[in-house]
Amino acid sequence: MDKKIGVCYKCRNMYNNAINEFFCPNCEPEMTEKIEAINKYTEAHTDVTIEEIAQEFEMEQELVKKLQSKRIIKIHCKMCGEIIQAGVLCDKCKAKAIVKLSSIKYEKQPLPEVKAKMHFVNSDKKHGRLSGE
Ligand SMILES: [Zn+2]
Ligand SMILES: [Zn+2]
Repeated sequence: MDKKIGVCYKCRNMYNNAINEFFCPNCEPEMTEKIEAINKYTEAHTDVTIEEIAQEFEMEQELVKKLQSKRIIKIHCKMCGEIIQAGVLCDKCKAKAIVKLSSIKYEKQPLPEVKAKMHFVNSDKKHGRLSGE
């Protein structure tokens, strides 16, 4: 009794998913062909969006996202080209982008308090040296 019942990603019919994890036997040949074509397309156009894929290949955006999260449809990071499971950037590039943004913000801020403190520390040091000699 290890028959597995799955719901087809495409037509949402129930089927025995022992052979194919995602599509029923009716949809499987068509979808396999489509996914192959999509992966060729995303490899050639790494900056393609889910909306564009859905339009180009006549698929629902939700289905594209679902298949992306299972790494069946391969969508690439916009910055480094790594395959990602959601969004437009991989985790590494996301972290880099955040650092870049926050460093820009930091540079724009004037730093009068820090300068004043440094001056104080400097004169203190000189004073300390003098009294030490
Ligand atoms: Zn189906
Ligand atoms: Zn990346």
